Amino acid sequence: MRFGIFLCVVILLVTQLRAAEWPDAATRAAAAKSLDVGESAPDWLVQSETYGFSPQPADWQALAESKVAFVTHCPVNREFFERCHALGIRCFPYASFYQGFATTTFQGVNLKDHPEFIEVDEKGNLRRTSFWESEDAKNMYTICPACPEYQDAMCKWAEEVMKLGADGFFVDNLSSRSPCFGVKFGKHKHVSDDPNHAFAMLLDRVRKIVRKYKADGALLGNSANPVGLPHEYWKYLDADMLESYICTWVSKDRWYDWSGHWHEQDVKLQPLIAAGKQIQALSYLGHTGYGVREDAFFCYASARLAGFVWNGGVPLSNPDTAILYQIRLGPPLGAEQQQGGVYYRLFDRGFVVLNPDKQKLGTFELPEAVKFSYLNDLFPRAGDPKAMIDLKTAGRKVTIPPFAGRVYLYAPSTQSELQTAAGPTVTVTTAPALGEVRFRVDGFDYWTYSGHWTTQYEQGPNFGKFMVTFDRPGKHKIEIVDTVPADMKTPAGYGTSQRLGEFMDPSQPTKPANRKFKFREWKGVVSSTQPSVEVDVKDSTTLTAEFDVQDKK
Ligand SMILES: [Zn+2]
Repeated sequence: MRFGIFLCVVILLVTQLRAAEWPDAATRAAAAKSLDVGESAPDWLVQSETYGFSPQPADWQALAESKVAFVTHCPVNREFFERCHALGIRCFPYASFYQGFATTTFQGVNLKDHPEFIEVDEKGNLRRTSFWESEDAKNMYTICPACPEYQDAMCKWAEEVMKLGADGFFVDNLSSRSPCFGVKFGKHKHVSDDPNHAFAMLLDRVRKIVRKYKADGALLGNSANPVGLPHEYWKYLDADMLESYICTWVSKDRWYDWSGHWHEQDVKLQPLIAAGKQIQALSYLGHTGYGVREDAFFCYASARLAGFVWNGGVPLSNPDTAILYQIRLGPPLGAEQQQGGVYYRLFDRGFVVLNPDKQKLGTFELPEAVKFSYLNDLFPRAGDPKAMIDLKTAGRKVTIPPFAGRVYLYAPSTQSELQTAAGPTVTVTTAPALGEVRFRVDGFDYWTYSGHWTTQYEQGPNFGKFMVTFDRPGKHKIEIVDTVPADMKTPAGYGTSQRLGEFMDPSQPTKPANRKFKFREWKGVVSSTQPSVEVDVKDSTTLTAEFDVQDKK
């Protein structure tokens, strides 16, 4: 019976601690089934908050300091994979099944040796990449994903990469495909007449290879526009990318209206998020007049509102952004909310707030669920006094500048809960300051601090005093015992029983005694020439024992 009660208590405690939970796999699977989008992404990807992008060797320390769940655009290198795995970070090399090079071997294929892999237009010409002009991608061609030999070549390459220890692929250039006339012109065969279905078949084959080597591996896509991704692709993807998320290298302002565009995307993508698909938001920071830190906090807050995993496109070590990779806010406490035009979302460890208004300050009153002593505002630098907000003295409102995002961690009080009733302190001090002088408080003996050795003799800030902290205000009997303080027997060094001398000056413990001290009177909260006084200690207070000084004869 007692065991039964104990179990109930344990279950209750566990339930309370786990108030915030990530959506579970069964709920995600049911949502994925109803949307007909294949499987949910694995837990680690659903629960990811930030990721690394094209990690540089010089940034290795920042990668180790971060809590990013994975890196994309990483080298195909066994040692690199192993070192990332040692840090708990998964690795996704770059891949494209859209285009290839005629100038070099890429993913095991040089198109000059395999012109039959290239898509054919209605006039029978090889189809150039769509970036031929916009990004000056000369001698690059669009691949026909329906070509069976191309699919086999990509599967062979994918298998080699997975054997080296990758966790899957970052597959760039996903889009709705144009018809290929390769069959009509006798250039190649097609696995399907529907080019989107043919592309989906290739994604399916590659994802199966990933899962053969890594049970929790993933296929991450980049269409730059997940809302427009051909539906069938979702069946074989764990994530899709929103590239140039709010900040981009082709605009000097945060592009598109936040409410009308980015928030709209957030709302449209929530069913896919609920189905366990991840959205990789990639912002390119550093091109607007707001500054990298303002842009980073705005983009990060926006991504956390939506539940997207985020990267800012600058090295993880950048001091304007590093903190955002070093924290995790944990599972959400419900969906995003709005309060007077300001958007917020609460998480297990903190919350984000975003004010989309370009002119007005936003104010945000903390909901009931936020029951903490302090908020740690991450926007001021660590150590800045503004970073710690005392909710008792500052009130339960935070102010968000116009067109800005902010991130807060809940922070605790550090006061001991078992000493909440600590009462006033009486400090008894000597003048001149004398070490090792004996007093008595309520019949118990106390000595003044007299310094100690480090590499030299340190008198320290409490030399010649002692303090007693009472549990509550009240009257106390304080008396001086050593009305004529003894000479000190100062030790010769740290922790030794040897003495510098038997007769050292209690006011200068490393010097021989050549003066005598004699108690004269009490000063401070009471004045008296009697050795014993009664003191009513209402608040913390100081009492000074004054001494006459005479040269030794
Ligand atoms: Zn074709």
